[in-house]
Amino acid sequence: MALNINSLLIHGGIDGDETTGAVNVPIYQTSTYKQDGLGEDRGWEYSRTGNPTRAALEKLIADLENGKYGLAFASGLAAISTVLSLFESGDKLVVSDNIYGGTFRILDNVFKNFNITYEIVNTSDIEAVKAVLTDEVKAVYIETPANPLLTITDIKAVSDVAHEKGKKVIVDNTFLTPYLQRPLTLGADIVVHSGTKYLGGHSDVVSGFVIVNDKETADRLYYLQNAIGGVLGPFDSFLMIRGIKTLGVRMDRHIENALNVAKHLESHSAVSKVYYPGLVSSPGYVVNRKQTDGPGAMISFELSDEYDVKKFFKGLKLVTLAESLGGVESLVCHPASMTHAAIPKEIRDEVGITEGLIRLSVGIENVNDIIEDIDGAIAFAKR
Ligand SMILES: *Cc1c(COP(=O)(O)O)cnc(C)c1O
Repeated sequence: MALNINSLLIHGGIDGDETTGAVNVPIYQTSTYKQDGLGEDRGWEYSRTGNPTRAALEKLIADLENGKYGLAFASGLAAISTVLSLFESGDKLVVSDNIYGGTFRILDNVFKNFNITYEIVNTSDIEAVKAVLTDEVKAVYIETPANPLLTITDIKAVSDVAHEKGKKVIVDNTFLTPYLQRPLTLGADIVVHSGTKYLGGHSDVVSGFVIVNDKETADRLYYLQNAIGGVLGPFDSFLMIRGIKTLGVRMDRHIENALNVAKHLESHSAVSKVYYPGLVSSPGYVVNRKQTDGPGAMISFELSDEYDVKKFFKGLKLVTLAESLGGVESLVCHPASMTHAAIPKEIRDEVGITEGLIRLSVGIENVNDIIEDIDGAIAFAKR
């Protein structure tokens, strides 16, 4: 029976334990496995190569993304760097102009040293993407909504122009998760995730994923996962399975709260700009609506000049100043000095990651409490 995503979140992948009937997948906390004789293993050899708890999670994430193959890693960046290891010296990647700072850092300071280069473009602009698809370009790497300005890229449109020229499309689906957006069904070739965020959902695990449909790419990725070794451990795999079960109910509440907070900020006299793809006034609203089942719960905004951003952060009592996002608790950060500090100031200014920009991950607390806290901090921040 084909399950709806809300059921897949709970019963997808490997549902419980065949041997004992336990309704949860056991934590196989083992590094190695007994072999019955030379060349006679029982399907498991060594836990970097494979572990049953991780395998259950890997099957689950593949099911959720409508993909055939899923791989779990020790962090989002372990997943991303494994994907980047598919490329070779001389290859070039086209990259969205606002992406996660750590992704930029590994491209600029690690893979560039191996002569895998990148070019930054505004991937919301399909003509701009088309214009840079030269011979050496092997893939287009996008985030949508992108971090931190929530810019929307049309996944299908980018996939169409990329595939026409034989390039692959990689999508970082961290902000929406497969509950809201399934890039493989829109034409993308590779999906990556920081599972640390909404998938885990409780700010207690660091993890990452890669999902693909193509067997050849999957085989190379399994090879690289084992060769590089940035795998997710059994206990963290268990925590991820547990977190994913409630993704649907959490996301529904995240979105309901975020819509309320975004509308409130939009009408607030102290707020000069609100970036949220769920607002009808947002430039990405139409495309996001077309390709997703919801806008997610990440909002960025700017306070007008009469307000001191530093004081705003000091004035918060409930909403927590911290890196990361996607947990049940509301978190704020200052992209220019925190998540996106690795991006040079000229590039930050060019794309709009200003000193006054505040990024908010709207949690699932009572929305009136969240709004009251933000309003209090804004009042406190008045110069
Ligand atoms: C956090 C994040 C990453 C990196 O993931 P880690 O789990 O921190 O390694 C990558 N992409 C996006 C969009 C993120 O938010």
